[in-house]
Amino acid sequence: MRILVSNDDGIQSPGLLALATAAGAFGSVRVSAPDGEQSAMGHAITVDRPLMVNPARVGSAEGIRVNGTPADCVALGLHHWRGADLVLSGINLGSNLGHEIWYSGTVAAARQAALLGVRAAAFSLIGAEMGEADFQASLPYVERVIRLLLEQPALRLVNVNLPPQPKGMLWTRQSVRAYEGRVVTGQDPYGRTHYWLTAAPLSDPEEGTDRWAAEHGLVSVTPLHMDLTDGAIWESARAKASEMGFEIIGRL
Ligand code: MN
Repeated sequence: MRILVSNDDGIQSPGLLALATAAGAFGSVRVSAPDGEQSAMGHAITVDRPLMVNPARVGSAEGIRVNGTPADCVALGLHHWRGADLVLSGINLGSNLGHEIWYSGTVAAARQAALLGVRAAAFSLIGAEMGEADFQASLPYVERVIRLLLEQPALRLVNVNLPPQPKGMLWTRQSVRAYEGRVVTGQDPYGRTHYWLTAAPLSDPEEGTDRWAAEHGLVSVTPLHMDLTDGAIWESARAKASEMGFEIIGRL
């Protein structure tokens, strides 16, 4: 088993070390991670400049650090290490629940692997944003998810969120409650207006979702798929479009 480990918090993150160490129990491990912080980069890839790669070591795992995004790192990691069986991303310092999945570099790193045909999982430690991260209680669950991936080849992309002291594990769906994004205005020392993008915390998550699991102290495991088609509305939207003449094809 060849496991590539990546993240979006950068090559120095203690979460990367924790995940690479845990992965070591399942096979040979290499790392490919950004030089520095790349959180909230989503699935960006670098196309306007060349990428540079330098050797790196994380614990006992060798690998590379890249001056690019998380998705770049996985693309380059898989380029340099062909035949990797599994890509693990994280452990992110902070949650990736509900709509956070759209912005997450951690999830994007895993998704980049799935796009390239390699199965992957993203791991995030809830509440670790402030720098104090203790991975000990989560590690048995990280190992459990890796075993799950090894047992079930149908699982292609999985998003895992770990509470600080897990009480158990739950198979969840992504919470899709409206994201309450806010722009906070301030002033810099020179009197110029600046802006912070923030989000109001959501409460009352839908039962059985990733946010719900998090609120109940449970490890959330959500299988993600790559097809973004809105299956529920596809048929009705198509019928309406047809009525409006959108689907009348002239000459091909
Ligand atoms: Mn991050």
